[in-house]
Amino acid sequence: MLPTDLLTTHFRLDEPHKKALKRLGIATIQQLLLHLPQRYEDISSIQSVGSLVKGQDAIVFGQIGGLNTRKSWKSKVPISEGWVEDGTARIKIMWFNQPYIAKMMTDGMYVKVAGKVGGTEGKLYLTNPEVEKLDSLPIDRHDSIFNNTESLDETIYPVYRETKGVTSKWFFHTVQKCFAAGILDVLGDPIPEEVLKRYNLPILKTALQWIHIPKKAEHAESARKRFAFEEVFYIQTAKAKERAQISVTSSYVVVTDKKHIEAFTERFPFPLTNAQKKSIADILTDFGGKHPMSRLLEGDVGSGKTAVAATTAYAVATSRPPEGLASKLQFGNLQVAYMAPTEILAKQHFESFIQYFKHLPIQIGLVTGSGCMKFPSKSNPEKPTPISKAQLLKWVKNGEIPILIGTHALIYKSVEFKHLAHVIIDEQHRFGTNQRRALAKKDTRMPHLLSMTATPIPRTLALTVYGDLDISLLDEMPKGRKPIITKIYTPSHMEEVYAHVREELAAGRQAYVICPRIEEPDPSKENALQLKSVKQEAERLKKLVFKNARIDILHSKMTPKEKDTVMLKFLSHEIDILVATSVVEVGVNVPNATNIIIEGAERFGLAQLHQLRGRVVRGTHQAYCFAVTTKDTTGKSGKTLERLKALTEAKNGFELAEYDLTLRGSGELYGMKQWGLTDLGMEAIKNIKMVEAARKEAQALIAADSELKKYPKIAEKIQTLSKNLHME
Ligand code: ADP
Ligand code: MG
Repeated sequence: MLPTDLLTTHFRLDEPHKKALKRLGIATIQQLLLHLPQRYEDISSIQSVGSLVKGQDAIVFGQIGGLNTRKSWKSKVPISEGWVEDGTARIKIMWFNQPYIAKMMTDGMYVKVAGKVGGTEGKLYLTNPEVEKLDSLPIDRHDSIFNNTESLDETIYPVYRETKGVTSKWFFHTVQKCFAAGILDVLGDPIPEEVLKRYNLPILKTALQWIHIPKKAEHAESARKRFAFEEVFYIQTAKAKERAQISVTSSYVVVTDKKHIEAFTERFPFPLTNAQKKSIADILTDFGGKHPMSRLLEGDVGSGKTAVAATTAYAVATSRPPEGLASKLQFGNLQVAYMAPTEILAKQHFESFIQYFKHLPIQIGLVTGSGCMKFPSKSNPEKPTPISKAQLLKWVKNGEIPILIGTHALIYKSVEFKHLAHVIIDEQHRFGTNQRRALAKKDTRMPHLLSMTATPIPRTLALTVYGDLDISLLDEMPKGRKPIITKIYTPSHMEEVYAHVREELAAGRQAYVICPRIEEPDPSKENALQLKSVKQEAERLKKLVFKNARIDILHSKMTPKEKDTVMLKFLSHEIDILVATSVVEVGVNVPNATNIIIEGAERFGLAQLHQLRGRVVRGTHQAYCFAVTTKDTTGKSGKTLERLKALTEAKNGFELAEYDLTLRGSGELYGMKQWGLTDLGMEAIKNIKMVEAARKEAQALIAADSELKKYPKIAEKIQTLSKNLHME
């Protein structure tokens, strides 16, 4: 048996089984072994039915039988009864006054039963026990806890993620069979042993044993740590390799003097924040180096990233290519490409750039799927003008247009630059490195990369997913901004919110209403969560709440074109209220929209709520955010309110992202899937020491062997990883 063998070579699998495994992405032995248990059940507290004594608090596992319900003939109290049997004995169970219980169960069902043992010796029973339905018993009764108890010291057993067609138990037994076939002896460990030793992590063979059949909880824990470390280590290695590759390429050296830059920034209608100054300085320093910059600019919405981008674009667009490369023509300066995720955003950046550059003889182009523009227009130097794509691209190719802004259309083959020196990418951090490559085309020089994001993520995650980038933070908001007023509401107080929004609408403002889902779920399916949906809420608001308002909707199932149309209407105030899903989180600046109501707020991470709230902070008017919970303050939602309070207290998005990580657990961290990490990897993200260790080791490995020649297994791993991480 080899790790790369298909499961079907060694095991008989029926169709449902095969389908189920496919769904879980398991085809080979190795993939099976890496399908790690989700959790462990501790069975040290389980008694066998045969050993129960009166008065004991018992937990037993077994099959239900003999169910029936009757009325006690004296008191007419309904009594349900049956038994549970575990292979050693059976014990009677009785429920008084709970006739529905028996109805919920069927004979033969696997259950976990917990209750106090009553009755007399030989006639023991459990009254009103708690019963939990199981898909299977912990372990087959035949090779179970109760046979040969002496030799078996395991008291915890693994529980695997199941899917229809394959049970946790199947995983357990199949893994054991692989172990018995000697698989552990033919597995090579990709991670160098001395690395594992340094952090006291088990080697692969031990880790697999410990994770699949732990003798102690600490063993399982230690094995999980190893696999978590491994995942972060691979990502870090991929990033370090990426970085090493970039850092040996050459770029356009851009040297600028301070006066020259100040001449540009002094014209801004505001003073730069210190954070902006610092970021600009970081970037200009990088520009002066021989190798291309790889930098991420992280800052909350409204922190002024565009001003930073414009300043760096100015530095590049006013620089000449090096001697020998420079054309004799008058134009032909270094060039900048600025890429935005959507067409509206590209247009907004184009308009902002016009404001920043209108006093200069620097041309700016815009290329999107639906057309091209150029600034300035020949006839009106204040205005942009539409232009054919062919003409625009010609001018970009010969270097006459130094700044080109656009959507994905920028990376099309037909777009060629003369001297592309600087690539700015907005909100697409994950793909930045690849897009830079695509934009550079065949140019032997690699452009500098400035990736910008308003997505707040915890520091450990940033260190991992941006491992190949240097980071500049805009952690300071421009002075004089009115802080947004955030209030937490429960559904029963909505009239107050609506009254406020009505006033705002009457004063000429606009509002967003965010709902957790697009449509009402299928009414035939029972659904405990009464979550508001975009379509129904828009109807309801029209009919009952804001009768005179113009209301429209926006959600992810609409085409990009439809979304753009709605956003443009909202921007031009043809719509008063935009009811939307969280798709509005990245994006468009509508300064007149000063109110945002977020329904089902507890469903979102704090960092995501913060980003949604960021839609309304930009204008000069006071902005309001109303976070509305689904339920009123009962039970669990009391805690919810507690958590949401952080929104009113935190200083910035990063702080909230850290809260998310600690309060909600990694599984719920905002947008976690987009980072391409598994649950285990996200667990690692909680541990700064582990992340730093993985980073250090990865960097050392690449420094010593940048092509990973000595580590073909790692090279292979990170190749698949890079593929997954960079695909769109
Ligand atoms: P971001 O892209 O980070 O969300 P923008 O660059 O779009 O932010 O800036 C948001 C708004 O703040 C713009 O209207 C911009 O003109 C303004 N702005 C940028 N920097 C400053 C500053 N230092 N002081 C005051 N206003 C600023
Ligand atoms: Mg922006």
